[in-house]
Amino acid sequence: MQFKDFGFDKRLAGQVEHLGFDTPTEIQQQAIPAAMSGHDLIASSKTGSGKTLAFVLPMMQRLTKQKALSKKDPRALILAPTRELAKQVFSQVRLFTAGSSFKSVLILGGENFNDQAKVLAKEPHIIVATPGRLADHLGHGHFYLQGLELLILDEADRMLDLGFSKELTKINEEANHRKRQTLLFSATMDHAQVNEFALSLLKDPKRIAVDADI
Ligand code: ADP
Ligand code: MG
Repeated sequence: MQFKDFGFDKRLAGQVEHLGFDTPTEIQQQAIPAAMSGHDLIASSKTGSGKTLAFVLPMMQRLTKQKALSKKDPRALILAPTRELAKQVFSQVRLFTAGSSFKSVLILGGENFNDQAKVLAKEPHIIVATPGRLADHLGHGHFYLQGLELLILDEADRMLDLGFSKELTKINEEANHRKRQTLLFSATMDHAQVNEFALSLLKDPKRIAVDADI
């Protein structure tokens, strides 16, 4: 199996090839087709197994192929537990949005709130963020999530361990479009808190587990 077998949009397939990715990892082989078929996912695989592209590529495919549900609201939101992890995800998102018509932004805790409000006012298509700061901006009405098409939770187990369930619940409630797809990734399997939380967030999810961390 190769990346070219997923049937990505031509430009996306070209970018993947140009970046030198040819063979998808195990989690990518399973998660990418499942996400592309529109399913909600709970996916786990160990650290370093390529989970980021397992959600970034189906996200780019969906945003490219489907018409936006809203002209103003962000189309995809990716949440990660820490500043460092959010930065790492953003750098992989930028590989695909740089030089395209997709505007992607990074919203982190600990940075200037008003500057971020201005960035959000420019109606980005893709937001990568830490949950606390994002929920703050949502509470201030700096953007709305009714048109959100993709909610992606990276390292969901760690976000819950860090106590972000209140913020995630609020974000989930505001992102209430019936066409929303939710992808939840974690490094551990059978994390009881994640499973319970996932029930409130995901619609009839597909479960994919490959070699999780203990
Ligand atoms: P995880 O989130 O599962 O910990 P990452 O998504 O951060 O893993 O990926 C780890 C590294 O593997 C990154 O440097 C990424 O560019 C690289 N990588 C991801 N997918 C592939 C692939 N199919 N082939 C080669 N390298 C890959
Ligand atoms: Mg990761």
